[in-house]
Amino acid sequence: QAKSEGRNRFCLYVRSLGQRVVDRLQLENDLRQALRLEQQLFLVYQPQWDLHSGQLIGCEVLLRWQHPRRGLISPAEFIPLAEETGLILPLGSWVLRTALAQARAWREQGLPSFTLAVNLSTAQLTADLPRQISALLRGYELPASLLELEVTETLLMTAPEEATQLLGELKKTGVRIALDDFGTGYSSLAYLSRLPLDVLKIDKSFVDGLPDRQDDVVITRLIIRMAAQLGITTLAEGVETEAQQQFLKAAGCHLMQGYLKAKPLQQQEMAALLLALKSDLS
Ligand code: C2E
Ligand code: MG
Ligand code: MG
Ligand code: MG
Repeated sequence: QAKSEGRNRFCLYVRSLGQRVVDRLQLENDLRQALRLEQQLFLVYQPQWDLHSGQLIGCEVLLRWQHPRRGLISPAEFIPLAEETGLILPLGSWVLRTALAQARAWREQGLPSFTLAVNLSTAQLTADLPRQISALLRGYELPASLLELEVTETLLMTAPEEATQLLGELKKTGVRIALDDFGTGYSSLAYLSRLPLDVLKIDKSFVDGLPDRQDDVVITRLIIRMAAQLGITTLAEGVETEAQQQFLKAAGCHLMQGYLKAKPLQQQEMAALLLALKSDLS
């Protein structure tokens, strides 16, 4: 009795595992197709603000995939798949190219220019990346100061020496470097202090607990103070409430992004916002 039950459960498990493998293969094929067609992929732009002056200072570029049958799929779902299959390289290039083309278009529309922060997967950080970035900036005739690259701590965990050197090479092209999701990884503070970082992004998981959770309060204050000592700008991500904003401002955090001020915007919405703020920015 118990044995056959166990067998049935095993069959069920195998079938669902098989189904998951098929689903993944299907999704991988669909992603390849999306990259070829270039119609299902698009970018959204989440404004970033100065906590003290209230000015718009830039935006984070976020990838979206409008799947023909499954609807909008979150990058949290398809980026890991792209990383495992190697599709992240063409996908990452597409994001960089499209973001810079958009910056160029906004510039030609006479809109004020501001920073675009593009997320990079660790797999994209190859020795050839600095050259690619320079070539793209030259191609679109854009200043390097317009571009910020967001990397995560996982980069430092496998090969910290190489990572430090590559980030140095990237810095030489004139772009800025931000460390994303800070505090969620396990990077050593010693390496952190050696990295050529411009911005440290305080992860949403800490911001969520502000201003009431004591451990989040302590950690956030610590991050801000440490960054200040190292001459690094702090940006809090996922700010949703007025109380969180007030706390961060008082704690000396410089920048923020989050639903409180704006969700990620479609290209037209971002252009409208830029137009409305035009005098503000220049
Ligand atoms: P991330 O870089 O940490 O991006 C921040 C995420 O938090 C975004 O989710 C954004 O929409 C969301 N967010 C921002 N403000 C708030 C808020 O106030 N409340 C809440 N609940 N959420 C907020 P999204 O767009 O789903 O992106 C998820 C992750 O996918 C990103 O995390 C990033 O790691 C990755 N990703 C997105 N676009 C790209 C890309 O072009 N390339 C690579 N390699 N990764 C990307
Ligand atoms: Mg990011
Ligand atoms: Mg982040
Ligand atoms: Mg995050």
